[in-house]
Amino acid sequence: MNFLLILTLISIIVRSRQENASMDPCNDFYDYVCTNDTRSITKLNFASLFDDREILKPNISFPNNGTYIALDQILEPDRLMKWYMTVKSLDTATVDLEYFFETHYEYISKKNDSEKFSFAVETLENVNLTLTNIFYNSLYANIKVLNQLNLPAAEENKFLHHISNLLKNNTIEEIWSSSLSNKSKKVLDEELNNSKVFFGLLDYNNVTMLEETKLVYETEYYRLKSLLSSDDLDTEIAEKILRLGAIDTATKYLAKRIPGYEPEFLFSAFASNMENEAFKHNSAIYAGIVTRSDLQQPMLAIADTVSVLAHELMHFVYPSGTELLTPNVTKAAKKCTQDEVKRMGDSDVVKPIDGWFSKKVTHEDLANIMGLRMVMKMVARKSASEEQLKNALETLLSGLCIQGKPKNSILPHHHPFEISINTAVRQYPLFSSLYGCRLGDRMFAEAEQFCKPLGGEVNLEDYKIKNDTEDIGGFFTYIMDTANAFNFSFRN
Ligand SMILES: [Zn+2]
Repeated sequence: MNFLLILTLISIIVRSRQENASMDPCNDFYDYVCTNDTRSITKLNFASLFDDREILKPNISFPNNGTYIALDQILEPDRLMKWYMTVKSLDTATVDLEYFFETHYEYISKKNDSEKFSFAVETLENVNLTLTNIFYNSLYANIKVLNQLNLPAAEENKFLHHISNLLKNNTIEEIWSSSLSNKSKKVLDEELNNSKVFFGLLDYNNVTMLEETKLVYETEYYRLKSLLSSDDLDTEIAEKILRLGAIDTATKYLAKRIPGYEPEFLFSAFASNMENEAFKHNSAIYAGIVTRSDLQQPMLAIADTVSVLAHELMHFVYPSGTELLTPNVTKAAKKCTQDEVKRMGDSDVVKPIDGWFSKKVTHEDLANIMGLRMVMKMVARKSASEEQLKNALETLLSGLCIQGKPKNSILPHHHPFEISINTAVRQYPLFSSLYGCRLGDRMFAEAEQFCKPLGGEVNLEDYKIKNDTEDIGGFFTYIMDTANAFNFSFRN
């Protein structure tokens, strides 16, 4: 055999070993589940949110009699600043929370409106003109996508809100059974109770309402434009301020149609509908999963929703409520989580690119660990066998598999998704016993390696099936039965 042939053979053997290893749940649970991903996600056609789409002229004109207003009369400095921050927050690759805090504190230190306006104009330099068009683009894209998807029209999707209330109540239960102080428990209980959830493209998905909002935007844009002199109109800053002014009016209009949510929240929600995102903004959670799911496989799409909601609910603790925990609890939980994430990242066959790890985003991994643990406790209460526990875990993961991107791609403000998910699975206390993983296996965590996000000990009994549980076919059968009871479907 010649040398090259030997090398080739060796590399084939090594590769097939690696491939086999990756199919082992004890080595890489994400790969184990996601290599069997059979979902076919609808390709939607819509223009990019990051285009400079021309703002259509409404059928109404605004003649000017020759008197103009100054630029600082278009929008009050506070609102200008607020919309700058909201638009800038969509530029996720370039900014982090610290930037917003610093900019906010600098802004509020300004003495009067004129200083505030100058500062706001200065910061507007940091956002490009195209980004200020994002709300208009997103209205346009939402209308296009809703027309393609043919989703059932709803103001509030009854089934999904039922599921989110279930998860919310379980989160509150987690808080009450933790070792937090009574005072902290009460604060979190109240915040969670008052929180609201918005399901992108499934709540308030009336196309006519969005068309009307788009017209409000166009009308306001051209009305404001007619108030400015041609010298002002020649500047880029005027164009940015006009667009933010139109956003201000259009989102206020939308907030009247969709009561209970702040205009900034609705802005981010409609902009996120195309981006497969979820986020928590103050006391409201946005969950948008429709455009990344296979709606022909509703169980997996709902499983995705369940994971996403559990994650967002845990953000009420990490990072929003960390001051309600004792510093030694949060310090130990963060250190434990960072060690776990690093271990999973450094031992993955697919190496993430250098510099992938950041302590600053630990709260995202904590939310994954806490969210999965909570859901698996709920699963245990609806399961009559270990097989049903495993099925539910695999269903949850199957709803989350990423398609069309290399494994361990860099995500802004998160660790690579696959690493964070495997960390959460490794931290699910029953995982190794369910799958027969042993000391030395990558996915095997020893009891002392279990992180304790809320302090207190991990109680294995919470995760085990209860002997008196009636066999209803497992957690997701129960969820789908509930969907049927609500007449829920992703199709009209
Ligand atoms: Zn998050």
